[in-house]
Amino acid sequence: MAAVSGCTVASDGMARPTETGEPAPTDLGSADDVALPRTPVFSAPTGLVRRPVPHGTLTLLPGTGNEIALTIDDGSDRDVVGAYAQLATVTGLRLTFFCNGLNLGWTEHAPLLRPLVESGQVFMANHTWSHADLTTLSAGDVTQEIRRNEAFLQRTYGVTGRPFLRPPFGRSTSALARQLDDLGYPALTMWFGSLGDAVMHVPGEIVSEAEKWFQPQRIVIGHANYPPVTRVFGRLVELLQERNLVPVHLGDVYRTEAASASATATASATTSPTTTTRPGPSTKPGSTARPSTSARATTPPPRG
Ligand SMILES: [Zn+2]
Repeated sequence: MAAVSGCTVASDGMARPTETGEPAPTDLGSADDVALPRTPVFSAPTGLVRRPVPHGTLTLLPGTGNEIALTIDDGSDRDVVGAYAQLATVTGLRLTFFCNGLNLGWTEHAPLLRPLVESGQVFMANHTWSHADLTTLSAGDVTQEIRRNEAFLQRTYGVTGRPFLRPPFGRSTSALARQLDDLGYPALTMWFGSLGDAVMHVPGEIVSEAEKWFQPQRIVIGHANYPPVTRVFGRLVELLQERNLVPVHLGDVYRTEAASASATATASATTSPTTTTRPGPSTKPGSTARPSTSARATTPPPRG
């Protein structure tokens, strides 16, 4: 079973697919060795008022605070998935994972990740089962991609992934967005900054991207696909601290049922058949999403 990976946009901001399985550079480059803290340095954000889940495209966090949402996709390298789980466990870092259930790391490392999901530190979201380009599929196949991954997340972590879905390669259409909304995913989650690691990057390049994009209210995309990022975890944590950024996940920011229930969840990850994270009836379309068009009017488009 092949692992899947790769969601990116080109420097002009247009989504495009990436090649997978590129040969690794022979020189991984240099990166400052910054040790990870030995005790947690991040905790749950305080004072945040959760907003209704918007119907639309998310590229930035709402408001004018100092939060940052690190969103980690795919998981085609099992060891990198495990390293991210370990990073969160050790540092308290809050993360949103956009999983492809096909990638076995999400199953292999579920024992480490599940407690983080249940405590509310980590939010699992849907990135489709097999990382298919949804714009190329029939409506029936789209539904299958979404629901198969939902079933995986529910079976493995006791959550569904709703209401946040990141379409593979960032590719969507208005018709697809409507279908995803109908499937319980009103919030198409894109990004405004990237670690650039949808393809193999040397550690120094990853740090450079982080220095560029770790800014307040950004949704930043990274990938659990290639090992070099794990070599700079210490520097990434240090950078967040230097900039007084408050890592949050999407469930910290938006009023999802999973977010409110996670603190008290005690059920086994294998026995939560009724879990749902559909937005409540008070959700107003587009009420809190900062549209990408307005964001990009004042800021350069993302690259990733
Ligand atoms: Zn992806």
